[in-house]
Amino acid sequence: MKPDSAAILGQNPIFEVVKRLEANDLKIIAMKMIHLTQTQAEGFYAVHRERPFFGGLTDFMSSGPAVVMVLEGENAIARYRDLMGATNYKEAAEGTIRRDFATDIEKNVVHGSDAPETAAFEIGYFFNAFEINAR
Ligand code: GDP
Repeated sequence: MKPDSAAILGQNPIFEVVKRLEANDLKIIAMKMIHLTQTQAEGFYAVHRERPFFGGLTDFMSSGPAVVMVLEGENAIARYRDLMGATNYKEAAEGTIRRDFATDIEKNVVHGSDAPETAAFEIGYFFNAFEINAR
């Protein structure tokens, strides 16, 4: 068994994810737990609509609660993507979130924006301006 998964067995991995964000100076400036409908998941992943995994991905993403966050920090997008690891957990580096906790390429624990433009869309999908503690 992977070392970190043993330590948190039975716990929601969100606690470990938050710990890793804090430890890596990625400041959480907004956070909430949501449960997407299938239609909302389809809207979020609209860019993947034509891909063969779209149905499986949106089924999974609407199958239970998810925690959404806005992160802030120097070079935050690239640094968070490093923490997440590769999309396919089998290719993710040792010590990354996906390597430690993912069980399937579509059940890869965390998502992350890949550019400021996608971050703007994704933040706007879940948060309004009053919910974000940017000062
Ligand atoms: P991410 O930024 O690393 O999360 O990757 P993308 O934004 O490109 O893809 C969104 C999600 O779609 C990923 O996190 C995976 O769960 C899923 N996904 C992406 N590529 C593939 C693929 O080739 N096969 C399958 N089955 N799922 C994929």
